[in-house]
Amino acid sequence: MRAVMRYGATVRILLTGGAGFIGGVTFAALLEAGHEVIVLDDLVDGPTPRPQKVATMHRHADHARASFIVGDVRDAVAMASRLGQLDAVVHLAALASVSASVRAAAAYASVNVAGTASVLELAALAGARRVVLASSSSVYGERASVCHETDPCVRPASPYGATKRAAELVAATWNATHEIPVTALRFFTVYGTGQRPDMVVGTFMRQIAKGLPVHPRAATARDFVHVDDVVRSVTLALEHDHKGFEIFNVGTGIATPLDQLARLIGIVIDRPAILGEPLPPWPGDVSFTAADTTRARDVLGLTPMVDLDAGLRAAWQWQARTLADRHDLI
Ligand code: NAD
Repeated sequence: MRAVMRYGATVRILLTGGAGFIGGVTFAALLEAGHEVIVLDDLVDGPTPRPQKVATMHRHADHARASFIVGDVRDAVAMASRLGQLDAVVHLAALASVSASVRAAAAYASVNVAGTASVLELAALAGARRVVLASSSSVYGERASVCHETDPCVRPASPYGATKRAAELVAATWNATHEIPVTALRFFTVYGTGQRPDMVVGTFMRQIAKGLPVHPRAATARDFVHVDDVVRSVTLALEHDHKGFEIFNVGTGIATPLDQLARLIGIVIDRPAILGEPLPPWPGDVSFTAADTTRARDVLGLTPMVDLDAGLRAAWQWQARTLADRHDLI
């Protein structure tokens, strides 16, 4: 339906994970577009620190079209009567750290797979006409070439990647049995305003700003996509007119080596990067990601608009302010 999110028409959207990094930027964008947004988030300290999540909620607390439920997505079905009728569900809530998932496979399966199933059940009960899910490039596992949506994805490298693939499969089956359209967006490595401190862009920015050496994982490259382009993929998916279960890569198609990323950040923040000893690979991590962006461009109309240089400059503006607020800058 160029139906669900026609600009100018207010729709009621449940946004799970709306206090997190990508969720916070999505929340603001959906309100800005004139929609009513109900955020469901447990606000538990995680890759995005709890104070940042609480601040995101407070920022919109007085907005007439914003409301919040502090709760667990695994309990979503029990919230159906409280939520009433929904037009669409954007499901971003997840346990989202690749490295943490290696030691917490059961928790990741519970939140990311059972939690997704609960949110889908709630979507049906609430009469939603469309569901958009956050998936991940981690479903592709270790590989040496560009990732295509049609790849079989049978060997993710981490429990996290496996749970994101499993959630896609649950959603595909649910779509076939409920006839409610679902779009799964496979985000690549996301950075920008609100970025997570555990991810490479935030980590390198902190270290380089303090004059500390950075230790990129050896021979590793990532497809970095700016959060504004990721949020555009969500809004385009809400507008996308289809009936089935669809998957789109959300990346740029450009793999940037991590040592090059460090040098770029050094230029952006005007403090040369000191490259320390490269780190060996660690369990769950992969050496290369790059999206085939053809399908997202041709079907969804998504063309990334923020290049890495401009994106890092915008990200640094936010990061520098945040570090200064936390008295974390030398
Ligand atoms: P994040 O940790 O900042 O956001 C996840 C949010 O989900 C948090 O606010 C958290 O409180 C909430 N949450 C976690 N468990 C919950 C539960 N049981 N009930 C309710 N809320 C819960 O991470 P993010 O980077 O913003 O990720 C958002 C989505 O995008 C996730 O689905 C993640 O897997 C996916 N993704 C992120 C990236 C990236 O590079 N950041 C890449 C690929 C996919």
